[in-house]
Amino acid sequence: MKILLIEDNEMNRDMLMRRLHRRGYDVETAADGEEGIEAVLSLMPDLVLMDISLPKIDGLQATRILKNTEKTRHIPIIALTAHAMSGDRDRALDAGCEDYDTKPIDLDRLVRKIENRAQKVIDKTVLESKKELDTAVIFNRDELMERIEYDGELLTHILDLFQSHYPQLMIDIQQAIISESAASLQYSSHSLKGLLLEISAPCASIWAQQLEEVSRQGGIGEATHVYVQLKAAMAELNQVLSNEAF
Ligand code: MN
Repeated sequence: MKILLIEDNEMNRDMLMRRLHRRGYDVETAADGEEGIEAVLSLMPDLVLMDISLPKIDGLQATRILKNTEKTRHIPIIALTAHAMSGDRDRALDAGCEDYDTKPIDLDRLVRKIENRAQKVIDKTVLESKKELDTAVIFNRDELMERIEYDGELLTHILDLFQSHYPQLMIDIQQAIISESAASLQYSSHSLKGLLLEISAPCASIWAQQLEEVSRQGGIGEATHVYVQLKAAMAELNQVLSNEAF
């Protein structure tokens, strides 16, 4: 999971970055509100840790800007403040922060909040995928044919290519789950998703996309469950494709 830490105090920034890094997070930093907003836009992190008192643009204002920007509004923001005053929490939540924590940082507590946010993102993805799955077809032959301008020879060729490429990707995915490698799981599920979209197999592609999403969030635990669904969808797809004339 990629976290952007926006904090102006160099020592706090460096220390928290190292501590989070040691817990396995990929951490990038920014030193003020302006730089922070630019970093969010260019890095598109999975989560932002936002110090509230920042130079140039303060944390509350930066949060409002990010939450009013289409591209970034979905990114969870956890506010960090040194003042344990009750009003800070409300102000942070009012500005659009999803959560709030106080300094000095209790790392276990902060990690719980980070994981809690990541889980909510996964839950939302699962829910959205389920909605999509209700209407998704296994193989959309018409859509594919239209895209390849009704070239029957090309259809055979594309499906042949698919048959020769996907088994290795399924092996890579399985290996990545066993070895708990989120990065390689993300890469192989992304590749499989691309292949499935190319042949117009929406149902299986939704599962591949979900696998990509959970791996992006570092959720290897969730991955096993999604992989089972993907495998079932791939079996169904193969069944349908075997009826295509080769
Ligand atoms: Mn500060």
